[in-house]
Amino acid sequence: MTILVTGGAGYIGSHTCIELVKAGYDIVVVDNFVNSCMEAVNRIRRLCGVEFPFEEIDLTDYSATDGLFDKYKIDAVIHFAGLKAVGESVTMPIEYYRNNLNSTLSLLSAMKKHDVKNFIFSSSATVYGAEAPVPYNEATPVSRITSSPYGNTKLMIEYILKDTAKAISGFNAVLLRYFNPVGAHESGEIGEDPTGIPNNLMPYVARVAVGKLDMVHIFGNDYDTPDGTCLRDYIHVVDLAKGHVAALQKIKENCGVFVCNLGTGKGTSVLEMVKAFSKSCGKDLPYEFTARRAGDLPAFWADPSFAEKELGWKAEKGIQEMCDDVWRWQSKNPDGYRS
Ligand code: NAD
Ligand code: UDP
Repeated sequence: MTILVTGGAGYIGSHTCIELVKAGYDIVVVDNFVNSCMEAVNRIRRLCGVEFPFEEIDLTDYSATDGLFDKYKIDAVIHFAGLKAVGESVTMPIEYYRNNLNSTLSLLSAMKKHDVKNFIFSSSATVYGAEAPVPYNEATPVSRITSSPYGNTKLMIEYILKDTAKAISGFNAVLLRYFNPVGAHESGEIGEDPTGIPNNLMPYVARVAVGKLDMVHIFGNDYDTPDGTCLRDYIHVVDLAKGHVAALQKIKENCGVFVCNLGTGKGTSVLEMVKAFSKSCGKDLPYEFTARRAGDLPAFWADPSFAEKELGWKAEKGIQEMCDDVWRWQSKNPDGYRS
């Protein structure tokens, strides 16, 4: 079975390529390098031991996307490609809607033309919205609107896929709602490589550990949580990658629309993360408490029981392993893939 992996040079896509090859799938990888680089592809190929095909294509370009399906016999698409910075999406909504929606529509149009009916989409816990009770459960209706244009693209694409599955008989749409992916491949060869100053906690902490940034700023310590800092459900990226392999199994059963959380079911505070990372890198990382970040929710985590029941998948790696792996990646590659 051949899987088209879009955004395969990116953080989650790169780790998923490795798990797909390990599980015996053939892959074709596509990326336009808007947030990644060729060095990631070289390293994935090295780790997989396979020279899989790679195509540098912008998926918003319909004819280029269609050409992929002429060139390769694709059985399923795993769609990671997209712009993903929540804050940036607030200042660049047009670019976010254009890139994320048009790339998905190009793919679906080309798939329809070539009779490809299997699609796995990288959705996000953000679709549950601010009012959903925790832990988030798939039976909870999605919010009418999310807190950012980025989140709204996820919500809209979920609707597009549900409508597509209604209209095309035999179309399988798996919507995977990720919680907070962190960690890196155990080799330390691939990992998260944001450009500029990271917005997310884990890459920020890693850059403090490696001496590229002065200290961690913890956004708020007056939340109604055990230590006053926010709780999130951090999931190791390799566990997340394996969740996609499990989802392909579900597709083989002709699942139709299948919505599933990928999380661990456990909330960890910002302070606990900083302390765990300090242990991994062997020094106390400096931090200070600053004001709350606008739009942050105090605490949310997944109910992972549906994934375990339906996919037979469960996250296995804990917080310390996540931090150890990020430290290995960051200390071996202090400037990421440009090191
Ligand atoms: P990433 O930015 O590392 O990877 C996305 C890849 O898509 C990049 O390599 C980028 O160059 C590529 N891309 C973007 N637009 C493209 C286009 N038009 N054509 C071709 N390639 C394009 O992001 P990631 O963290 O690996 O996330 C993968 C997916 O998972 C995204 O859709 C993201 O929204 C979703 N997601 C991520 C998180 C997270 O915290 N990382 C959480 C929930 C959902
Ligand atoms: N956070 C922080 N300092 C940072 C980055 C993030 O205190 O430099 C906190 C943030 O307020 C949130 C948690 O870390 O409570 C996770 O944030 P991240 O941006 O990684 O993921 P989010 O859950 O917001 O998508």
